[in-house]
Amino acid sequence: MRKLVRSLVQGGDLEGAIQALLAHAQANPEQGADALTLAGEIALELNVAPQPPAPGAAMLVFQGDRRRAEMLFRAALRATPAHGLALYGLAKVLPETSPERIETLTAATTSKPTYLGLLELGDALRSFRNDYEAAYAAYRQAHELDPRDRGTYTKLADVCKKLGRPDEALQWRAQWQQRRQAGKPAVKARVLEVTLDPEGWTRCPACNRRFSVTNSGVFKDGQHRCGQALSIRR
Ligand SMILES: [Zn+2]
Repeated sequence: MRKLVRSLVQGGDLEGAIQALLAHAQANPEQGADALTLAGEIALELNVAPQPPAPGAAMLVFQGDRRRAEMLFRAALRATPAHGLALYGLAKVLPETSPERIETLTAATTSKPTYLGLLELGDALRSFRNDYEAAYAAYRQAHELDPRDRGTYTKLADVCKKLGRPDEALQWRAQWQQRRQAGKPAVKARVLEVTLDPEGWTRCPACNRRFSVTNSGVFKDGQHRCGQALSIRR
């Protein structure tokens, strides 16, 4: 679908691209939702901000055409109600506090679960609906999609506290700490041996920086500033 309008978009003719997609949707109803969704995304790139009357005047210089995008995403959803990208697109243009945004994010993450989509859903459920149980479920699903990302641990800990489960909150925090430790290069856990030159300088084998061991700003308690533990061979 993107290939269809690539040259128009690259040439800056966004309006032409939208028109081409509308025509394509009409001629190929089976691809209608895809074409309308892409048209909606392009509408968000279309600048409708009033331009400053004079150069240097402080004004909003970019604002996508959200109303048109909303219309296009809704049209896509009439053609294919569970279209994942159209649902994410619609969620993007709905007001943050609108209940419809939560419904839309719920449908979007059901049809096409993504880590960021689930985080957004969890945040919305927590902030605008105080539904901590549902927020917890969304964060858990995000966590399963990407357990390496640390963002979910603190969110899960917060929500568990709200749910009156302080023990589980502590577990998430502890796991987060473990992750943080694990994220540090393993080499730092090993003590490396270094020799000093006559002036008392050496090179840290971990970060390759030269430093003086008498400078407590860079070397303290057997540890270089980069975190590497060093033992000095005299
Ligand atoms: Zn170092």
